Amino acid sequence: MALFTKSRFKLALSCPTKLYYSTSSNNYKDTSADDEFLKALAEGGYQVGELAKYLFTQDPIAENISIDVLGYDESLAATAIKRAAGGRVVIAEPAFRYNDLFVRVDVLVEENNCIDIYEVKAKSWSPNDVFLKAARKKVDQGKYTISSKWSPYLYDIAFQKYVVQQANPTKKVRAHIVLANKTSTVTIDGLNQLFKIKRNGTRVQIEVQPGVTQQSLGTIPLKTINVDDVCEWIFQNPVAIDLPGVWMFEPLVNYLSEKFIANEKIWSSCLGSKCKKCPYINKEYPNGAGSGFHECWQQLARLSSTEVTQPLITELWCGNGPKTILKEAISQERYLLRYVDETLYPRGENPPPYGDTLDGCERRNVQIEKSNNQNFTPYIDIPGLTDLFNTLPAPYHFIDFETTMVALPFHAGRQPYEAIAFQYSYHLMDAQGNIEHKNQYLNFEQNEFPNYDFVRHLQADLSGKPGTIFRYHQHENTYLNHIYKQLISETASSVPDKESLMEFIREISRPTTDNPDTWEPSNNMVDLYDLVLDHYYSLYAKGSNSIKDILPAVIKSSAYLRTKYSEPVYATASIPSLNFTTPHTWIQASKGLNPYKTLPNIFEGVDIEEMAEMEGFLSELDNGGAAMMAYAYLQFTDMTNTQRAYYKNGLLRYCELDTMAMVMIWEYWGREIGRW
Ligand code: SF4
Repeated sequence: MALFTKSRFKLALSCPTKLYYSTSSNNYKDTSADDEFLKALAEGGYQVGELAKYLFTQDPIAENISIDVLGYDESLAATAIKRAAGGRVVIAEPAFRYNDLFVRVDVLVEENNCIDIYEVKAKSWSPNDVFLKAARKKVDQGKYTISSKWSPYLYDIAFQKYVVQQANPTKKVRAHIVLANKTSTVTIDGLNQLFKIKRNGTRVQIEVQPGVTQQSLGTIPLKTINVDDVCEWIFQNPVAIDLPGVWMFEPLVNYLSEKFIANEKIWSSCLGSKCKKCPYINKEYPNGAGSGFHECWQQLARLSSTEVTQPLITELWCGNGPKTILKEAISQERYLLRYVDETLYPRGENPPPYGDTLDGCERRNVQIEKSNNQNFTPYIDIPGLTDLFNTLPAPYHFIDFETTMVALPFHAGRQPYEAIAFQYSYHLMDAQGNIEHKNQYLNFEQNEFPNYDFVRHLQADLSGKPGTIFRYHQHENTYLNHIYKQLISETASSVPDKESLMEFIREISRPTTDNPDTWEPSNNMVDLYDLVLDHYYSLYAKGSNSIKDILPAVIKSSAYLRTKYSEPVYATASIPSLNFTTPHTWIQASKGLNPYKTLPNIFEGVDIEEMAEMEGFLSELDNGGAAMMAYAYLQFTDMTNTQRAYYKNGLLRYCELDTMAMVMIWEYWGREIGRW
């Protein structure tokens, strides 16, 4: 029989109906994105869990503190054996049960009459973080609320404290949270690489390099905070959950666990923005596995089984507009996109945009109008794009960065979650539309902080060059600012060309609000994403403007692109590539016209024996999360040169396509306005 665990409790707090959909025997589709999983892996959540054990013992492996068995009864029995040893007992993953509630604690330290439990999270902590916030309003003086940013983690540890305390009524249980300390600087090179990530399906394994001890790790960049006061607050105050009425912690836990054990669905009291990213959706509904999303919207919005398959308000693009559009539409029971209009997102005092250019308001109008008519012909602002082509000088430089932020730094002298820019790709297009993959950078050296070398190469490629530099969205600007701030703290002897690198960053980017310096760039990068928002809409992308959705939409909109790139023209003399060694066809019907699906598998052509050695590693590299993970693999010391070469090639091809995607958008627009 399944028991009610801390993960189920957390899931129910995000929406109580999810409890039912998440039970695998109920057969609902679960789309929890693989990309997200990879991102979590790459950011180091699992590694932090392993590292935290070294806060409590010199050598957790030699001292055998971990309980690895998975079954409820086995882990409870293993916990009892370890606890019976007496003295100061340290256990990783001990299990506790109280009635139908079950928890596995990350780390427990038991001595005399006290049990200290530690919940380890890879989330970053800085001294400005507070868990309980004093109310600002005078009438609420003396009252506290829980920080929404920290709330899921704090309810998680409160649940554990509750279960452990109930299971050990004569003991004093104290609760702590362990977080990645952003203000702590690591003292050894390769801390991250000591905790190697391996993946087996959805299971993750961390292999700790033999010989690692607390002492050999130097400074452990983790912060331990006692949260007994927060747990007490949680036990004494109503819990925010989408259920009718007011719920205190203990009755809520009992209610949720009873319903879960009985496998009864609990209806949420409302729909909301939480539904936009609900993982329990089957896009093929009514075919195939159950679709929790569709059931909720039928039940709570009283939509018929036909209506629920029509475009819903959740599809509407809400960016750059009032945050409450979705909430407001739901409160007015305007669930279907066709019932939504400008009254929900008024332009206000702002003047309407010039000509055919779209602003947020007009863009939503266009989306709704096209959706109502299921009109897949694109909206394209020909005069606006013509102006752009006349104003933005050629040649056109397209750049894209691959970056990461990890909890456990790769390099000595760095702090958790510092920005790392390890790769970029650069395509160049001239005024006539001739394209070449001009240059690229990938730092795959181990133990080398790549950021300054990265900027140095970018500077050589772009500084002082005529033409227009394009990026897609804020990412490149944000990372150049991160590196700028890192450079500020360097000395002229640690980075001799520091001033020159900073000057280059000032040349092509804008300062972010947290940058201590201000400047006006002389050749600021142009954001292609903003141009998409202003000049192009396709129903194929629905309400998304991510390049991963815009590229397929553009390809479906453009017969020109389809004809051209359905031939093996890429990586030929007419469009040279730095990574593809044979002519490549970007658009293939069998790949759903999606160029990302044409990227070769990392291990394509690898013989079966070598392949067996790579078991547990990443095999596809077609998204940002996978790229972050691949970079982490390149840092692991026991990868052979051949294995590293596979990842290197995978990263290079992936990033090359990211800039080629931008080229295709610009090329399509140029064609539409008759430029080529
Ligand atoms: S669709 Fe909305 S209400 Fe239903 S489970 Fe998902 S988040 Fe909850």
